[in-house]
Amino acid sequence: MITPRIDGAALLADLHRTAQIGATAEGGICRLTLSPEDAEVRAWLARQVKDLGGDLHLDRIGNMFAHFPGTDVDLAPLGFGSHLDTQPTGGRYDGILGVLAGLAAVRALQAAGRSTRHPLCLVNWTNEEGARFAPTMLGSGVHSGTYALEDMRAATDRSGTFLGDALDALQLAGATEPGETVLAAWLELHIEQGPVLERTGRRAAAVTGVQGLRWYELTLSGCSAHAGTTPREDRRDAFLEAARLALAVDKIAAEEGGLATFGEIAIPNASRNVVPGRVALSIDLRHVETAGLDQMEARLRDLVDAVRPGIKARLTPVFGNRPTKFAPEVIAAVEGAMSDEGLPAFSMVSGAGHDAVNLATITPTAMIFVPSRGGLSHNPAEFTADEDCVLGAQLLLNAVLRLDRGGALPQGAKRLTMSNPASPALAR
Ligand SMILES: [Zn+2]
Repeated sequence: MITPRIDGAALLADLHRTAQIGATAEGGICRLTLSPEDAEVRAWLARQVKDLGGDLHLDRIGNMFAHFPGTDVDLAPLGFGSHLDTQPTGGRYDGILGVLAGLAAVRALQAAGRSTRHPLCLVNWTNEEGARFAPTMLGSGVHSGTYALEDMRAATDRSGTFLGDALDALQLAGATEPGETVLAAWLELHIEQGPVLERTGRRAAAVTGVQGLRWYELTLSGCSAHAGTTPREDRRDAFLEAARLALAVDKIAAEEGGLATFGEIAIPNASRNVVPGRVALSIDLRHVETAGLDQMEARLRDLVDAVRPGIKARLTPVFGNRPTKFAPEVIAAVEGAMSDEGLPAFSMVSGAGHDAVNLATITPTAMIFVPSRGGLSHNPAEFTADEDCVLGAQLLLNAVLRLDRGGALPQGAKRLTMSNPASPALAR
């Protein structure tokens, strides 16, 4: 059977059209969650869904689910999409491409008169970016049960507005209970937001997971002292100890195949001619394996225990996310989709978090990456070539069709329904 082809011109027209909503002078988009611009792009999406004959449901956190029927009423829908909100300095692609590619996939199927066994469900998740309301990946987190609905409705922006009130004011809180829409699988097309594909001359990747992270606060206490009169051997310089420690942690990260970042460093009451007596720094460790995170943490603790005499060190863990492993059967569908297009096999782990991280906790999930020029993202200069946007959408469609043909998924959906008894299954 011939695979339907994406109408590239229509997809690119959608990208250009939606880029006008919240367009910035620098050529990017500022479309913060539940802003007038977010409401406008949601209304635009709702019209597209209606034009395609889809059935749109909103859940109570405003996630948009556009349902398209399949031929087998016993199957749960195959889900795909991403998010339409942006950072204040957002670009035109980010999650937007994933949602618009989903529309393009449905359009291609309809134009070809092709039906799927599974129903299809295109999703726009609320507040992926976390720019106006924290945390990030909020809507998908409520859907997956990672966060409680009422806690997230109580999230506030800088002006003190509750997310729940913003939802209600725009009439975007729907009647569907979070998690009620049980998906047989989740596929998400996204730009890479990093340099790997461009640097290696590749056009797409099957994403096999997302690296985990652990955050710590480290305080080092020595003794403030006169910069001119204190001999070297008498100094208890907290900053120099922090600097030595940072270099040692970076070396550990390199040896363990992970990453270490010291994004915040503070010297309270800093002064040009005073030996720093106290330093506080943040440590962000990342690794694709839990064992790698464990190993980096153990070696970090050894370093902290071995600071120089006269310095006191205190390490406090503040946050963590386990590495996410996507589902082999969905990754295989993406790899198959790539071979359908004559692309060489290539897989990678995502450095950034995505809604797919939350979906992966409740349904078989994988992602597709297409290149980001210069690795730039969350920047008005964010750019993915037209042909790569269209290719990404085609890969999404190919992968959906491969999953639809596959035999393993109905069982996966059943297992998920049973493991999540709080969410009545909509699996028709
Ligand atoms: Zn995104």
